[in-house]
Parts: sequence; C-alpha cells; structure tokens
Amino acid sequence: MKIVYRKGQYNIVADCLSCCCTQEVNAVFSIENKELLDIITENYAKDNFFGPIYDFFCDSSKPMPPDLHMTLHWFSLDPVHKLLIYVKDGERRLCIPREKHLIRLIFHEVHDPLTSAHSGIDRAFAELRSKFFWPKMKRDVVKYVKTCHRCQVNKPYRKRTSAPLQLMPIPETPWEVISLDFITNLPKSKGYDSILVVVCYLTKMTHLIPTHMTADAVKVAELFIEHIFQLHGLPKAIVSHRDPKFTSKFWQALFKTLETQL
Ligand SMILES: [Zn+2]
Repeated sequence: MKIVYRKGQYNIVADCLSCCCTQEVNAVFSIENKELLDIITENYAKDNFFGPIYDFFCDSSKPMPPDLHMTLHWFSLDPVHKLLIYVKDGERRLCIPREKHLIRLIFHEVHDPLTSAHSGIDRAFAELRSKFFWPKMKRDVVKYVKTCHRCQVNKPYRKRTSAPLQLMPIPETPWEVISLDFITNLPKSKGYDSILVVVCYLTKMTHLIPTHMTADAVKVAELFIEHIFQLHGLPKAIVSHRDPKFTSKFWQALFKTLETQL
C-alpha cells in the first residue's frame, strides 16, 4: 500500500454522480448480482426511510419534501443501477432498504462464511458499515449475531479453568484437622446473630458457638480457646472458607493468646 499526501483543498469526497458509477458501485460494494440489485431498487419505494428520498431523486419535478432538507445532501442516486448511495465522512455506502430476506442475505455474507469465522458484533458491524447503510443497522447486527445458532453452539469458554480438586488427607487422630466457618445474618437470639461452626475432620464432631457478625480474628481466637482448645487441644491444620488473610490473623491471635512463638 502506498500512502500519498494530499493537500487539504484536494482531499475532498468524490461526487457520486460525477463518477463512473457502474464500475464504481460494483467495485466498491462487490455487487454484481443483477437479481440482488433489482431487489434493492424495487424495495426502496416501499421503505419508510428511503422511500421519500428515492422518490425525490427519481422524479426531479417533485418538490423536495420539507423534512428531508437536513438529510438529502448525504444521498445521491447512481443513474445506471438506480441505487441510492449514502456519502458521509468520506465514506460511500450502498443504501439497503429494510427487506427481511435481503438484510438476512447480507448478514449471511458478512458473518457466516468461513473467512469471517462468525466474527463478533463489532467486527460484523465494522464490515457492514464500510459498505452498506440503513437506519438502526447496529441494532440489527446485535440481534443477528446474538441469535446466530453457530455462535451459540461454539461459544468459547472464557472463564479461567479451575485447578483440579485435591482430596484432603485423612487425619490420624480426632481434632487434628478441623474446619472453621460461620453461619451469619441469623435473626438475633440473646444478642447473637451468627454461629461459629467448628467440625473435626475425622469424627465430624461439631461445636456450634454463638457469636456476632462483627467478630474479628482476635475475637474468634478467644472463642476458639474457650470452646475448642480447652477440650481438644491445638489442631495441626484449620480449613476455612474465610479468606487466607483472616485465617492468618486468626493463627497469629491464637498463638499470641497461648503465648507461643511457634
Ligand atoms: Zn455466528
């Protein structure tokens, strides 16, 4: 590709009607199918949006509809194929009337072939937008891609795969390994709204200790010494669904209370 600098005064949009439209429409939009072109031109008149614009271009004796004053300058008519061309921001796009089968065929060509690989909404829209124009195109693209059967079936799994499950080794003695968790948001009973649940991994013996939702690691360590340590001693391991930070703080508080450094 060669990039050539053009002075601002020369860098203007080409006028559709002054170009050789026959070749240009085919080259730009790659539409050579006569049947397809006929369907497009036949449906302009029936289209709510393009109908009045098309009428005005086909019959210049008609006065310009007042509500088209603001938009008409974006459109021109290819005199050979009688196709409406939308020109804005330097882009020339073929106007497509809202005809169900026609739009479906265009979507199929842009989204479904192997070369497109069922691209996502943004890529399909960019591809369409570079060649075609019709009102609410983005909405139609979103609907088509979201309801595409192939896309639904072959959706890639984007979640991180979880690590393989690891079985906990079976403890040799009771209360060697315990689990420590909470049941919270309970209706208040005697001022308590939570339960600290401590379970022995080997015997499944359980202690239910009333506590508060506000209990921090230090408070939990105090409850643990009062209700568990006095009966079963210090466990070798604690399994908890609380975050590792809490478990770490809990161990620190426990050792501090037991006045041990190990
Ligand atoms: Zn698809």
